[in-house]
Amino acid sequence: MLSGVQWLDASLIGILGLLIGSFLNVVVYRLPKMMERQWAAECAELSGKELPAAEPFNLMVPRSRCPHCGHQIQWFENIPVFSYLALGGKCSACKAGISIRYPLVELVTGALFFFCIWQWGATMTGAVWCVFAATVLTLALIDWDTTLLPDDLTLPLLWLGMVAAALNWIPVTLNSSLWGAVAGYMSLWLVYWGFKLATGKEGMGFGDFKLFAALGAWFGWQTLIPMILMASVIGAIIGIAMKFNSQLREGGYVPFGPFLAGAGLSALIFGPAALRQAVGL
Ligand SMILES: [Zn+2]
Repeated sequence: MLSGVQWLDASLIGILGLLIGSFLNVVVYRLPKMMERQWAAECAELSGKELPAAEPFNLMVPRSRCPHCGHQIQWFENIPVFSYLALGGKCSACKAGISIRYPLVELVTGALFFFCIWQWGATMTGAVWCVFAATVLTLALIDWDTTLLPDDLTLPLLWLGMVAAALNWIPVTLNSSLWGAVAGYMSLWLVYWGFKLATGKEGMGFGDFKLFAALGAWFGWQTLIPMILMASVIGAIIGIAMKFNSQLREGGYVPFGPFLAGAGLSALIFGPAALRQAVGL
């Protein structure tokens, strides 16, 4: 049984999670655009061209606007979940619909933060699992939208997993974490080249290797097989369902990252032992 203080901690961090979820919506929308700008600038530099000076664009500026009419979103229109409900899911200026995904991401982040503190208390363990959950959720959404898994998120996630293992914040030995990262990367790297040599196509991207390496660092090498099985089976089912509903995008490509991320979040919620048991390992 949890004490009153633990409920209070979990609830407060859960509310913090709602606010972080609101920020994650910004990261999901802006980080890929920031990367594109970066690439354009690098290409221009290599070819010796001058790019016209651009307005600053990062996670902090400019302020969020309605993508439909450009109405600048006020602070009271930006309160997680509550503002969406109060506005009836519509922009206050032009009444264009706001995607239900924004409040859902806030709710899911809040629920994950609540879960981590409820499970591990207001400790370093609880804190690093909150960071894990927020990062993995963000990666899943960015990959789904853009088929990109930014290094700016996958690589710190990998390092933090190993640091957390070294400091005993998570129940994985440093040894298991290190080999989890190595085996996670190498296994998908081999699948990638095997698939490419056999079919001439690219079945996944390098970001998938890094994300799987990060999951190996957080859960240890022992959990890699259950996670990849889970991601593959669910990914295949959803891919086929999308094909039948003609919802596949151009090239018929379904990003794999969201399913890897889903397997990682399942390992967080149900525990790696339950995942291993589910596949009979
Ligand atoms: Zn609007």
